Amino acid sequence: MPNPISLSITESAASLQITQQAEPVFRAIVEAGDYFARVIEKGQRVRIVDLEGNQAVDTLFYNAHDTADRYSAQDTIREQQNIYLTTGTKLLSTNGNALLTIVDDTCGRHDTLGGACAQESNQVRYAIEKKPMHACRQSFMMGAFQWAESTGIEFSKHDITANINFFMNVPVTPDGGLAFEDGVSEAGKYVELRAEIDVLMLISNCPQLNNPCNAYNPTPAEIVVWSK
Ligand SMILES: [Zn+2]
Repeated sequence: MPNPISLSITESAASLQITQQAEPVFRAIVEAGDYFARVIEKGQRVRIVDLEGNQAVDTLFYNAHDTADRYSAQDTIREQQNIYLTTGTKLLSTNGNALLTIVDDTCGRHDTLGGACAQESNQVRYAIEKKPMHACRQSFMMGAFQWAESTGIEFSKHDITANINFFMNVPVTPDGGLAFEDGVSEAGKYVELRAEIDVLMLISNCPQLNNPCNAYNPTPAEIVVWSK
């Protein structure tokens, strides 16, 4: 039974936070298995919310003015000397630019080692007959096609490189093994990032049904953007 006094303090602190938060300039739901593409302008903050919990939100970032300059897992891990992403992590690009900084994180851990699912990897990891199943690589390409319609900048599969799996739990074992575990996230957990330059954010809200990253049940995510 919670102490009623501490409960009321918690509630008032939470409502204070909500009232201090400005109105978002953009808000959208990305359905389970769907894709999303949007430029986050320098200084804007974007929050990704795991609405129902245990969802993997696969995400790519590019310098919006030079998409050859894109998120680099290797540079990010090396510079922060940690394999997990959380508050304070600067997401570095292949050219060494800071694309975004994680400024808030109620989940506490995000993966950038596990990569994104593809039809080919589904066949290798699970079964040959899994090939027709939808996968993140297709969703990324759908999002890129949509973005290309408005910008004329075209992507190919070669542009789908290192990604982040927000809310996904891929712990590294003491002997260096990778484990795809059940999620560490819960309904309503979020991660918030501040764009350090104009970035294209490309999301595949992972449709994977074959491993515990989505608790075998893909669910929607919410995107909220605040102005500078
Ligand atoms: Zn996936």
